[in-house]
Amino acid sequence: MAAARTLRIGLIPGDGIGREVIPAGRRILESLPASLNLKFSFVDLEAGYDTFQKTGTALPDKTVDILKKECDGALFGAVSTKVAGYSSPIVALRKKLDLYANVRPVKTTAGNSNGKPIDLVIVRENTEDLYVKEERTIDTPNGKVAEAIKRISENASYRISKIAGEIALSRQSIRDAAPGTATRSQPMVTITHKSNVLSQTDGLFRETARRALAAEKFSSVFVEEQIVDSMVYKLFRQPEFYDVIVAPNLYGDILSDGAAALVGSLGLVPSANVGDNFAIGEPCHGSAPDIEGMGISNPIATIRSVALMLEFLGEMNAAAKIYAAVDGNLDAAQFLTPDMGGKATTQQVLEDVLKRL
Ligand code: ATP
Ligand code: MG
Repeated sequence: MAAARTLRIGLIPGDGIGREVIPAGRRILESLPASLNLKFSFVDLEAGYDTFQKTGTALPDKTVDILKKECDGALFGAVSTKVAGYSSPIVALRKKLDLYANVRPVKTTAGNSNGKPIDLVIVRENTEDLYVKEERTIDTPNGKVAEAIKRISENASYRISKIAGEIALSRQSIRDAAPGTATRSQPMVTITHKSNVLSQTDGLFRETARRALAAEKFSSVFVEEQIVDSMVYKLFRQPEFYDVIVAPNLYGDILSDGAAALVGSLGLVPSANVGDNFAIGEPCHGSAPDIEGMGISNPIATIRSVALMLEFLGEMNAAAKIYAAVDGNLDAAQFLTPDMGGKATTQQVLEDVLKRL
């Protein structure tokens, strides 16, 4: 047998229930079957509001340095955002590590689908568009006028579309690794834009996405496009139709929150912040101060984020095993946390998923 691959993972629990769910994520990695030939080492890192109060910064340089120098990937819990005057460490981390894609899979299982099996992922560009935050307000004789720059570049549009294509292929290989549960036979990418109105900015995004996805490597991927307003309509009417949706920053932001609403609890939805050389798994929920310390936070979003991180580290088989264990837990519906209508604790859900691994 070849030597085991060892991956070093930074653990950034942050605040609130981040401290309850990130340890669950670690246990999942430690408990992967030996047959996968994967080993993990961990390093605990600080960020968030408590860190800010202790050290005066929400994202210590040491955290960034260790991630850059030592780690293959990371798990980020949640940080409290209730405080003015301090900027979010995850936003800073995305910049410092050039994590230009935000990836949010939204999936139901037989147990929580209301009949429609949803299994899609939104791939959001994370560095430009209206988020360049170049705004100005002009006083005119007719009153104030405010403007904002929407910047779309060929490079950023290309790399986000390429990653969307790669995710489509990776999802197909995960479906192939778990036959019998597959919901589609061909990967698909939907390009979202509003080029009928914004012919230059969104026009460039659309054209570049088309070019990126026309590469030979993506020949098995079916590529289609949707104007963003009709995208919203179809996403809610027919979510089961979609596989991978790629979007510029703002549309991606709106679509990914909307899509998360399709599956019930925030406690189920994972995400990843992805660049060319690094991936951080992050549950979509926040620090949930209302349930902090009660031992009932749902660990599934984090467990799925672990799998997503592994996908970007090239470990599709490990990811497929974790997804299958989570689906098993949800379908059996025996151990569910209160946000899912159950009575189980974080620990009981974790143990049930571990048993299925
Ligand atoms: P923050 O400012 O950190 O975002 P918040 O008050 O907005 O905190 P969220 O974490 O965004 O809280 O959660 C919104 C709601 O969803 C809360 O009622 C919370 O309890 C619930 N929730 C979020 N995550 C989970 C989870 N993992 N398990 C159970 N319930 C959750
Ligand atoms: Mg919140």
